[in-house]
Amino acid sequence: VAAYIVNLDGESSEGLHLIVTLHDLTESRRMQQMRVDFVANASHELRTPLAILIGALETLMGPARNDPEAHQRFFTMMQAQSLRMSQLIDDLLSLSQIEINEHSRPADRVDIGKVLNGVGGLIRAKSVEMDKTIAMTLPETPVFVTGDFDQLTQVFTNLVDNALKYSREKSEIRVEIEVARREARISVIDEGEGIPEEHIARLTERFYRVDSDRSRKLGGTGLGLAIVKHIVSRHRGHLEIESEVGKGSRFTIRLPLAAE
Ligand code: ADP
Repeated sequence: VAAYIVNLDGESSEGLHLIVTLHDLTESRRMQQMRVDFVANASHELRTPLAILIGALETLMGPARNDPEAHQRFFTMMQAQSLRMSQLIDDLLSLSQIEINEHSRPADRVDIGKVLNGVGGLIRAKSVEMDKTIAMTLPETPVFVTGDFDQLTQVFTNLVDNALKYSREKSEIRVEIEVARREARISVIDEGEGIPEEHIARLTERFYRVDSDRSRKLGGTGLGLAIVKHIVSRHRGHLEIESEVGKGSRFTIRLPLAAE
């Protein structure tokens, strides 16, 4: 915002003044458009499973009322769509909660090894179900960062969950940690389909997906990496994405180490 004082009588500084205020509207218009797009996208994402639920209920109450075999099929479908809506609402709430706290720095001393151990526990059942292995190489001595334990757990849960979703059958997901230049670098590496280069810069945008149908089928909301980006920036960290189509991807989080 720029403010200029224009002296109208041209001579005395005590004369009549006009204050002209110039705003740069480009950025605020862009933010406003982003908010409008976000609400439209979120509504669309919620409306789709809701439409399927309404359709299924109408069929169950009408043509399929006396067909027990159809009941089972429709109940299974309704359960899947309800879970999808529930996951989406959880992710939307997480995002708004992170935004509320965006400007306050998390202050706890957090052992990253403990975070990763917890993530391993949370995600083990899913990896067994998907017939994939998770190999974690954890540090021998604790690696401390300043942060929020629950939010960091969410970051690595989202990354390992993506690695499980987008990797080849029966493949291995590696989680590695290295300490260099006063930073902890934690990588989640998969042997998956990889990501074409032109998509990489946009992956952390809300609802951006390389293949929307595939993401939805795998239970994705399109918000996982947006949540990761917000949490990592709140921790003054960085997210790096390297990927090779047909080979796999490496998502690395760099976090400054806690002071001694
Ligand atoms: P989603 O819920 O769709 O997985 P994310 O925000 O977590 O949403 O990821 C956005 C998109 O990035 C995904 O839809 C997918 O296309 C791509 N992606 C994320 N992680 C990987 C990965 N490990 N391998 C390949 N593609 C990935």
